[in-house]
Amino acid sequence: MNVVLNPATEERIAELPHGSVEVADRAVATARAAFPAWRAVAPEDRARLLRRLAGLVEEHAEELALLETRNVGKPIGDARGEVGMVADVFHFYAGAVDKHHGETIPVSGGVDLTFREPLGVVGLITPWNFPLNIASWKLGPALACGNTVVLKPAELTPLSTIRLGELALEAGIPEGVVNVVSGPGSVVGQRLVEHPDVAKIGFTGSTEVGRRVMEGAAGTIKRVTLELGGKSANVVFADADLERAAAAAPGAVFGNAGQDCCARSRILVDRSVYDRFLELLEAATRAVKVGDPESPDTQMGPLISAEHRETVASFVEDGAAIRGAAPEGPGFWFPCTIVEATNDDRVAREEVFGPVAAVIPFEGEEEAVRIANDTPYGLSGSIWTENGARALRVARALETGVLSVNSNTSVRVQAPFGGFKQSGFGRELGLHALAGYSEVKNVYISTD
Ligand code: NAD
Repeated sequence: MNVVLNPATEERIAELPHGSVEVADRAVATARAAFPAWRAVAPEDRARLLRRLAGLVEEHAEELALLETRNVGKPIGDARGEVGMVADVFHFYAGAVDKHHGETIPVSGGVDLTFREPLGVVGLITPWNFPLNIASWKLGPALACGNTVVLKPAELTPLSTIRLGELALEAGIPEGVVNVVSGPGSVVGQRLVEHPDVAKIGFTGSTEVGRRVMEGAAGTIKRVTLELGGKSANVVFADADLERAAAAAPGAVFGNAGQDCCARSRILVDRSVYDRFLELLEAATRAVKVGDPESPDTQMGPLISAEHRETVASFVEDGAAIRGAAPEGPGFWFPCTIVEATNDDRVAREEVFGPVAAVIPFEGEEEAVRIANDTPYGLSGSIWTENGARALRVARALETGVLSVNSNTSVRVQAPFGGFKQSGFGRELGLHALAGYSEVKNVYISTD
């Protein structure tokens, strides 16, 4: 049995049977059987069904948010925001169904047409940190393009995804189109990756497992989209609004208890303002409210598991410059932590995936860009400056997929999201995601 815990209390909240290869195979067969009818649904009807799913998510928003809070330990305010985004994602892709156009291309002797064909059965594999959000980022475009789906949530946090599968049925999406199978990644996930009837894997998770997914997909030349880890830089120039940058920095790395692929976990600060910035950052860090995720004022909850807490603690064995408060007693708590570091230190090289930020000084724009890019990852990042030309120059120079200027938010329903380098490839969200769930077919028609 898979025992599912509330990480804030360590209480059992569910027990689920472990998924198996047989269960995965049955789900793929069901999705395969449902594909011909689903791809044939008229675009306006498919859009209507996705819109209905968005409406049901809105109707069940509080229930879903509580489920997410209890299973992931995230503050209820954050969970409500995330569920709101899930509804917006389905609204967006409902609107996108009939706007994913082909082209006509001038050629000699006739005309060339392109069609955007669905792939067939797609396997969607999601992590434990934003279970419902990330499921929707994949499910929305996959369904809009006419694919059927086997969706595998992480074993630690399957509950909201299982509920989403039920809501999809209730919305009228035909049986077999959305199949949720929870189970171990090395069994159910691996089977989806290798299954000859799965056309594509949309994967979000660690770079380590992403590498395995890519290797496993090679056997059947399966398409893959990989949204992997990050070690993003929050670059604060001397000409930034320091108060604003420092007030925003904790949210960018302690949000979701640092268990965020976009966490700006390297804070790069111009040496000339370093001391002043650290002072401001200390005050902002100590002000983060850590505690009961179900309380509306809470800004940070616990880590996901005892094992993960040990990994996070291993990054701060040499002590910390700033350490916030955290509850005692049951729950996988870890305080907001700031360490002063160089970019060569382990805390600056590896993804901690916990509330630990490394502050690193730099001298001048060139060095800032060099340090920010000196990482195998390339997912996200921020630039703080009041100089518009510098903001654009640095934005172009950074090797990362999703950036923000004078802000730390870079995830929006309408805009593409994804990584450079070992943070993966392919894009989610926006109209860009549709490319990852369809194949371009070119048809030549002779007019002679
Ligand atoms: P993980 O890689 O351990 O697991 C992710 C998913 O893959 C889970 O569902 C797991 O069961 C499954 N899996 C594990 N082994 C597998 C295998 N051999 N074959 C197929 N599937 C397998 O990641 P996690 O610990 O759940 O999540 C944290 C990681 O996810 C972090 O590295 C984080 O940066 C990353 N992440 C990336 C993004 C992004 O969009 N780039 C978003 C959120 C999280």
